[in-house]
Amino acid sequence: MFTFSNIRNYQDFLRTSQDGCLLAVEHYLSVIDDKKGLNAFLEVYDREALQRARELDSKRNSGKGMGKLHGVVVSLKDVIAYKGHKLSAASKILGNFVSIYNATAVERLLQEDAIIIGRNNCDEFAMGSTNENSAYGPTLNARDPQKVPGGSSGGSAVAVQAGMCMVSLGSDTGGSVRQPADFCGIQGLKPSYGKVSRYGLIAYASSFDQIGIFAISTEDIGIVLEVIAGSDGQDSSYSNKAQEEYSLAILQEPLKFRVAYFREALEHSSLDPEIRKACYGLVQRLKNAGHQVEPIDFEYLDYIVPAYYVLSTAEASSNLSRYDGIRYGYRSPQVVKEVGLTEFYKSTRSEGFGEEVKRRILLGTFVLSAGYQDAYFTRAQKIRKLLINRNELIFNQFDILISPTSPSTAFKIGEKTEDPISMYLADIYTVYANLTGIPAISLPLFTHTNGMPFGIQAMTNRFKEVFLLQFSQQLTNPG
Ligand code: GLN
Repeated sequence: MFTFSNIRNYQDFLRTSQDGCLLAVEHYLSVIDDKKGLNAFLEVYDREALQRARELDSKRNSGKGMGKLHGVVVSLKDVIAYKGHKLSAASKILGNFVSIYNATAVERLLQEDAIIIGRNNCDEFAMGSTNENSAYGPTLNARDPQKVPGGSSGGSAVAVQAGMCMVSLGSDTGGSVRQPADFCGIQGLKPSYGKVSRYGLIAYASSFDQIGIFAISTEDIGIVLEVIAGSDGQDSSYSNKAQEEYSLAILQEPLKFRVAYFREALEHSSLDPEIRKACYGLVQRLKNAGHQVEPIDFEYLDYIVPAYYVLSTAEASSNLSRYDGIRYGYRSPQVVKEVGLTEFYKSTRSEGFGEEVKRRILLGTFVLSAGYQDAYFTRAQKIRKLLINRNELIFNQFDILISPTSPSTAFKIGEKTEDPISMYLADIYTVYANLTGIPAISLPLFTHTNGMPFGIQAMTNRFKEVFLLQFSQQLTNPG
């Protein structure tokens, strides 16, 4: 039977196997089929994936070498463009839209011989924390199907959690890779803003959005990051900082880190006491291992979720204006000539978007409107600037900032759907990294007495991914 531990071992196995890629794909297709009740995939590219596996097997057998991701079976969140394949952002409004180009990240996966096995369910337009906002039904947590997998990249997280693929790409605007990784007990990295090209990623809030990686080991995250990061003329927000060999981060000598945590974050009233206790336990463990760990005061904690929701919905209201029924996907059955263009737009958008997306477009339009802009949008921008300045000071003194990833373990399905504010507030620990553009990773370290996994989040200064991966490796594979 096929088993997967990490990419390196898998590729060692391929070197001695004539049909290893095919075995891997057949294995994953059967797991996907067995677990289709979890609703992690919106579409499975079974025939294509089998075909690609055969091609890669024969390429390898004929001595033509192996790309860095040779045979690696990957799934994509349904917001990442894959040429010739449907792309719906789990929304009705994109209908049967088919992408006409590859996202840069996808192009690079393919160049390095990856196998794309399917597209994953998610919250509509990546807005949500539970995957319940999908137009195609919720994804269920494989650990406990009564619970949500987190969101918005819930399908990607479950695909890796339940062994339906080796790694998955998601997107993270306010926590959508890290929080589902936390709820599902796997690792999830949001790279620095400007590290991975956003070309071909459906825009939610462009100054926050980043493609992120789900995997079961830090090493695999490093290998995939090395492939998908890198300069790209198609994304002007991409940083031209030199590329590093992330996959080597884990081979470095163990380091002693200067670690900080926000005192207010660990004392916050919304934090589950068991998670708090585990975090303090970790602080002690890090100290015992010779790292310097210190609490720091952070008086802005209660401002970051409001600032994030003001700025991200403002950007979303503008980004989503392109879905008008004329250019893409779903069109209202109304006839423009009869009802007029404005009425046509209204019905298309009312019928095509789900509740949460509409709520955010309204909120974003409101915070940008004349008379309210200064009170909301401009203020939120000022808060963002304060955070960025503060962040610089923190990382002058420290290497790593740790916090919980989420204040609780996975919610029950339906538990928070009637209370969007409480759902938003649960983003308290993840949005800081998006507001400041720094990289952050969620690491599964613990199991709650309620049976669900949880972990911690580690962050570092912008473009210091190597550091972050070294820290993660030390924490998840001590000794
Ligand atoms: N939960 C956050 C939100 O709903 C995260 C979204 C994301 O990162 N895409 O906005």
